Amino acid sequence: MNIRTEIIAVGTELLLGQIANTNAQWISQQLALNGMSVYYHGVVGDNIDRVSEAFNQAQKRSNIVIVTGGLGPTEDDLTREAFQLLTNMEIIEHESSINKIKKYFQQQQMKMTPNNRKQAHVFKQAKILDNHVGMAPGMIVEYEDTKWIFLPGVPREMKAMVSEEVIPYLQQTTGVKQIIQSTMLKFIGIGESVLEDEIHDLIVNQTNPTIAPLALNEGVAIRLTAKADTTEFANQLIEQMKTEILNRVGDYFYGVDEDTLASKVITLLKKHNHSIGAAESLTGGMFTDEMIAIPGASTVCRGGLVCYQPLVKQNVLGVSPETITNYGTVSEQCASEMATKICDMMDADIGISFTGVAGPNEEEGKPIGTVFIGIHDKSGNSIVRQFQLPGDRQEIRRKTILKGYELLFQHLK
Ligand code: ATP
Repeated sequence: MNIRTEIIAVGTELLLGQIANTNAQWISQQLALNGMSVYYHGVVGDNIDRVSEAFNQAQKRSNIVIVTGGLGPTEDDLTREAFQLLTNMEIIEHESSINKIKKYFQQQQMKMTPNNRKQAHVFKQAKILDNHVGMAPGMIVEYEDTKWIFLPGVPREMKAMVSEEVIPYLQQTTGVKQIIQSTMLKFIGIGESVLEDEIHDLIVNQTNPTIAPLALNEGVAIRLTAKADTTEFANQLIEQMKTEILNRVGDYFYGVDEDTLASKVITLLKKHNHSIGAAESLTGGMFTDEMIAIPGASTVCRGGLVCYQPLVKQNVLGVSPETITNYGTVSEQCASEMATKICDMMDADIGISFTGVAGPNEEEGKPIGTVFIGIHDKSGNSIVRQFQLPGDRQEIRRKTILKGYELLFQHLK
């Protein structure tokens, strides 16, 4: 069966931008994991003519339609009515649902109003999806060879029904049980075009897994997506391709999926049993903050000193007045001294320093985006790198700490 799935979210608040359509996103992910193709996403407000029109269009072009929202008790919950306009299907009261609603109101000692009965309304020939989390049941109903699946809008309720009932139902009725597994290989220190060039033949001849290069904030990535009958086989296909790719560009590889450069740096620091301290000027603590946000940082991160004004660089960190007078605070010499001093002061194995011009004005005659990063280690090795970073103040600060993590990653590797 050639599956053409459409997901329709009903609700004016979606159109107003008050909430994002996370239901469609989540359902699409679940269907993809199960090898089912989604062709369309639609959003329609709480208006019976427009909902009915959206349903009419879906009926013509899709053979599975999943609708979320509009099953509640209020006047503007009109998903059932709109589908009835299209199909003339009879609506009845679902006994166990109405009993559940009555019981709920009794237990809460609340008055049940007539409109609450509406939540128990279902199409006569529908397969009922019990709502273990809320009130309105879901429904599956076939109309002229199209399977219609109606789900509540509340994400918790919708997700429970999809996982427990909808996916098993679709697997059974469509015979599709394909698994889709995906992983992202992350690289730093190599540009997107060079990376693509290195694996050009693999990209051109890709079948299963598919290979998609993409740019990240932290470097570049390759997304591998494999389809197979079992998770094990899909993973095996991914592993084979990953090995092939890393044989070529493994030098730049830093992690997969949720890995970040900072988490990788912490792993490497732990591996080498190294501690680190940071002297931060324009980054104002962002580097240390990012590190401390990662569980396990306490074993390697000594701390950070925010030494923003020259006075603090000199009086607290101990950068020599001559360095500041002769070269300025945004200089190779100052960055180098900051890294050495913080390494000593914090009795760390590695000291890292950040100094630069974040803008909006140039400083010491140096243009906006001029950044120096110093690294000093206990055995006496020192490096300083100069960068010219684009962007506004926050972008420059953010890019500075990423450069810092990149340099550390290369240093530790
Ligand atoms: P119920 O029958 O359980 O009362 P319902 O089917 O009437 O739910 P709605 O009233 O349309 O659903 O939505 C209930 C809430 O669920 C919304 O206020 C919103 O917070 C959330 N919601 C609805 N649709 C979506 C969506 N597409 N994506 C994310 N959240 C949604």
